[in-house]
Amino acid sequence: MSDACDFPQLLASHGLRLTPVRLEVLAVLGAEARAWRAAEILEAVRRRRRVNKVTIYRILEDFLRRGLVRKVPLEGKAAHFELACEHHPPHPHFQCQACGEVQCLQPVPLEALWDRLQGPLGNRAERLEIRVEGVCRQCREAEEGP
Ligand SMILES: [Zn+2]
Ligand SMILES: [Zn+2]
Ligand SMILES: [Zn+2]
Repeated sequence: MSDACDFPQLLASHGLRLTPVRLEVLAVLGAEARAWRAAEILEAVRRRRRVNKVTIYRILEDFLRRGLVRKVPLEGKAAHFELACEHHPPHPHFQCQACGEVQCLQPVPLEALWDRLQGPLGNRAERLEIRVEGVCRQCREAEEGP
């Protein structure tokens, strides 16, 4: 997913100084096609270096404010973060109802649907989100056994 991303350049272009921990956070976010809870990011970064929780939360806030990451909208669940660079345009998500993992799906063209959903009511439609709920493969295999 992150092959196309140049993280030092991404930081620079958003006016953020390059620090090892900021780079680690970006590397975690870019490593898999999924969205991460702050606690999961903290855990992943901690496998590589000592860092406290406050630092990670502050980095995520900075990234969010400057548009390097976006929050994936999920009802009633802890905030999930993902990269929001040019290589990661908005896309649908799959959420496993068993383990809670949020996977990123391929962007799909929604123009036709969008036109219809805006409706004739004089609404100003601004955003369309698609969230698929189900059970991920790992949980399904665990359920069904070998
Ligand atoms: Zn990128
Ligand atoms: Zn699952
Ligand atoms: Zn995503």
